[in-house]
Amino acid sequence: MKKNYRAELVGVFGDPVDDNPTGVLEEAGFAALGLNYRYITMKVTPEDFDIAMKSLKALHMKGMNLTMPHKIAVLPYLDEMSEAAKIIGAVNTIVIRDGKLVGDNTDGKGFVQALRMEQVSLKDKRITLLGAGGAAKAIAVECALAGAASVTVINRNQSHGEELVQTILEHTEAKAAYLPWDRTQPVPTGTDILINATPIGFAPNVTAKPDIDYDTITPNMTVSDVVFNPDITEFLKAAAVRGAKTVSGLGMLVCQGALNFTIWTGREAPYDVMYQALKKEFNLGAGNM
Ligand code: NDP
Repeated sequence: MKKNYRAELVGVFGDPVDDNPTGVLEEAGFAALGLNYRYITMKVTPEDFDIAMKSLKALHMKGMNLTMPHKIAVLPYLDEMSEAAKIIGAVNTIVIRDGKLVGDNTDGKGFVQALRMEQVSLKDKRITLLGAGGAAKAIAVECALAGAASVTVINRNQSHGEELVQTILEHTEAKAAYLPWDRTQPVPTGTDILINATPIGFAPNVTAKPDIDYDTITPNMTVSDVVFNPDITEFLKAAAVRGAKTVSGLGMLVCQGALNFTIWTGREAPYDVMYQALKKEFNLGAGNM
């Protein structure tokens, strides 16, 4: 058999990017399936983004992840985009197919998939979302496309919150409303799924949690966090104490990585292997999920 010493290349462009752990789970997946792929974590500044994007085809790369600050800057370079990515207005995953750059956004899809894995359906659910940034937008759009009845956006900056509401109303069937976040916010009555889509609680600020009235969380709610380090945040702990079902941001991260894996390789991702690799990386014990 003819030898092939050339690996298929994928990776991520970002700045800062040194602490992005996606390579750990993707490389674990490639190794588990014996695929000759490499995931390379690359620092690319906004000034060098153009030359970095132009190198993708020259280097015969299979695809790329984009993280801050490139998720919007990448749009003019794409030949095609998924419908969801068009609505979200941001792309975190590219695959290069027949010389064309095709963009998708797997942030929100990963979130929806993580809920599904915990047997939580979005159909007809009333969502309350804390935050209106990139992750919040991707999650809100995918939840709405997956059949959520409504999305209530609670955000500090009013115009960010109202813009997200507008996006949901214009592009999906879901209802949407904005609530200001200028006090200890009660969770709106009737909420089925409460999501923290802010970075509050991310390491090293592990004792922080969003300023909401935790006594308004009820046992029939599902409560989820985008923060993945630690995987069980103070936010999720406070929800669990009130009897809510909790879904961690680690699941979203791995589901998103698994979706990217399949987009690039065409193979089903070894979810458990990827999940365990990340848990090991973060030194999370068996009782942490
Ligand atoms: P952005 O900067 O785009 O948005 C941050 C949002 O959080 C904004 O709405 C901002 O409000 C709000 N916010 C930030 N700090 C505070 C605060 N102290 N009090 C109230 N609101 C606050 O970030 P992203 O959306 O890209 O990322 C958010 C988090 O999601 C990050 O921690 C990121 O690591 C995580 N993430 C996790 C993923 C996963 O797979 N688990 C995937 C993608 C992201 P305002 O508009 O008022 O400024």
